[in-house]
Amino acid sequence: MPRPILATIHTGALRHNFERIRAAAPDARAWAIVKANAYGHGIERVFDGLRGADGFALLDLEEAQRVRALGWRGPILLLEGVFELRDLELCSRLDLWHTVHCEEQIDMLATHKTNVPHRVFLKMNSGMNRLGFAPRLYRAAWTRLNALPQVDEISLMTHFSDADGARGIDAQMAVFAEVTQDLPGERSLSNSAATLRHTLSGPEASARLAPYVASDWVRPGIAVYGSAPDFPEHSASDWGLQPSMTLSSKIIAVQAIQAGDSVGYGSIFTAQTDLRIGVVACGYADGYPRSCPTGTPVLVNGVRTRTVGRVSMDMITVDLTPVPQAALGTEVTLWGASAGGQLLSIDEVAHAAGTVGYELMCGLAQRVPVTVAGDD
Ligand SMILES: *Cc1c(COP(=O)(O)O)cnc(C)c1O
Repeated sequence: MPRPILATIHTGALRHNFERIRAAAPDARAWAIVKANAYGHGIERVFDGLRGADGFALLDLEEAQRVRALGWRGPILLLEGVFELRDLELCSRLDLWHTVHCEEQIDMLATHKTNVPHRVFLKMNSGMNRLGFAPRLYRAAWTRLNALPQVDEISLMTHFSDADGARGIDAQMAVFAEVTQDLPGERSLSNSAATLRHTLSGPEASARLAPYVASDWVRPGIAVYGSAPDFPEHSASDWGLQPSMTLSSKIIAVQAIQAGDSVGYGSIFTAQTDLRIGVVACGYADGYPRSCPTGTPVLVNGVRTRTVGRVSMDMITVDLTPVPQAALGTEVTLWGASAGGQLLSIDEVAHAAGTVGYELMCGLAQRVPVTVAGDD
């Protein structure tokens, strides 16, 4: 028998979460962001749940080929654009739309030989200072692109650094709005956090900005995968999102320990009372963070309890006090949904480890077998 660890991808949750985002921006079209192999879920595994999207957005050309291989004929957007000249040949061949964020990418387009002009998304650096043209250079870039026979429609794009937090989006919106006000073309501004928090239905909505936040194309990623972009201020269930990934395993050994005994490497946990400890087949080599401290929540047979001691490569140890019936083979849910439907948000586990749900999803290890649960 293989080790009992398993990841399950929930098609119904993906579909539900995507509809939840659509409800927040009902007049916009929505990209399903499937970069990083669909946030660790596997592009082929999420495709069925997300085929209702208006397009797929990603970074990697190999991933774009995989989306086309699934039979998708609609829009695909390369969020970082091309990395070298010959990437443009693939864009022509597969009809990929691509971001243009720097002069060098315009240079490449200008030398690219193609019969079919490309749809491009011109990115502004409105304050995040990662990708994009500075506001004072943006209009010149637009003019240069617009003059190229290789370019078809130009859409206008930016990305928010603080849509999930207190700084918000006002300053970046003001910059973007001012520079682009009389430029034609569709707009794409909002990630999950902006779409949930700053559109009209959201808690941070401003009547003035909300229509821009929800304009033309929204770009939800993390929310589609059932994680709250602004945890712990809001949880996934606050946002009406369902987990799209469950990581589950089983108890492979039980230890009855006495007060004063310690558990695991470094003996960092010492029992204050007699305890039953469950040993679970899941460790950091499966993608469970080693930085999860004693007290990280975990479900045993759907009952919430805590990890104790250090996470090791192949195992973690959990306190069985609230689940006295637990024994060899009992189900353990590391994140996601238990067989009985009890939920443990990936955000809670990530928070305990000092990180975000994104990193845990993306870090699911290759050795973990994955199954897809159809609509449930
Ligand atoms: C990853 C990404 C998104 C999605 O962000 P989430 O926080 O996961 O919703 C949107 N836009 C761009 C440019 C991205 O790179």
